[in-house]
Amino acid sequence: MSRIGIVGLGLIGGSLGLDLRAQGHEILGIARRRTTCDRALERGIADWAGTELNRLSNVEILFLCTPIAAILPTLEQVRPHLHPDTLVTDVASVKAPIVTAATPLWPYFLGGHPMAGTEQQGVEAAQTHLFQNAPYVLTPTATTPPELTIILTSLIQQLQAQRYCCAPEAHDRAVASISHLPVIISASLIASCQQSLDAETQALAQALASSGFRDTSRVGGGNPELGVMMARYNRAALQAALDSYRESLAALSDQIEQEDWDALTAALQQTQAARPPFVE
Ligand code: NAP
Repeated sequence: MSRIGIVGLGLIGGSLGLDLRAQGHEILGIARRRTTCDRALERGIADWAGTELNRLSNVEILFLCTPIAAILPTLEQVRPHLHPDTLVTDVASVKAPIVTAATPLWPYFLGGHPMAGTEQQGVEAAQTHLFQNAPYVLTPTATTPPELTIILTSLIQQLQAQRYCCAPEAHDRAVASISHLPVIISASLIASCQQSLDAETQALAQALASSGFRDTSRVGGGNPELGVMMARYNRAALQAALDSYRESLAALSDQIEQEDWDALTAALQQTQAARPPFVE
């Protein structure tokens, strides 16, 4: 069993604390606000929780679970307090800029990204089994000590998540398409429903909206800070995904405008066949 530090006790950090503590690990939690620490203790997320970074001096593994923009400043702040053998990892949704900057700061750093979440945030959103059956990506580089991957793989197995390894840049290109692009598309869907309907029709649409709208609007109705961070830190890959999406949308729009139902049928048959490998 390991002594594990978690900085940031929100949805992801709190959920990690709940599951890793249930596995018998000792969890030391750090948050900005005392109220978050108190709630983390009440909810059984950590054995100890506070705001003092020097309490991390004897942790073996440290998870950085703050918002993306705070990951590197947090690493700089905790660095002087850590034992040199501490394995440091993060959970940020974007990897290349974090891994590139963190590795020179801490040679025992291995980037990670659990591909699980909800539209909730904060300590109250933490839940057990959040990572079960979900992909958990590790992004080792040529200089990452191999034992870090072995140690984190063991923890990922305890979370019952599915471990994948890839280069940070490959991760960022892939998640731009399947995670960051959907946030922007889903947000624009919600905005379009608001803008295109008069008040009476909008009220009717809200009453009629069911599972289809719930599915397609879910990620656009989530944490705005997270959406902005994804766009800021993965801008080039997201921009490329958006350009490609505009082309697909324009092609479908043209088919509808020209009443080319054969072409639309072929396009939708193609997407129907293409979807399963992404979701099964
Ligand atoms: P969250 O629920 O908002 O929790 C963030 C936590 O970080 C809180 O404990 C907060 O402390 C602390 N924090 C906020 N700003 C900070 C700062 N400037 N310095 C230090 N601590 C700070 O966020 P989350 O959804 O768990 O996301 C955390 C990380 O997980 C992000 O890097 C995100 O990219 C990644 N991630 C998110 C999801 C998702 O679906 N949400 C999925 C996978 C990965 P206080 O409570 O004290 O304010």
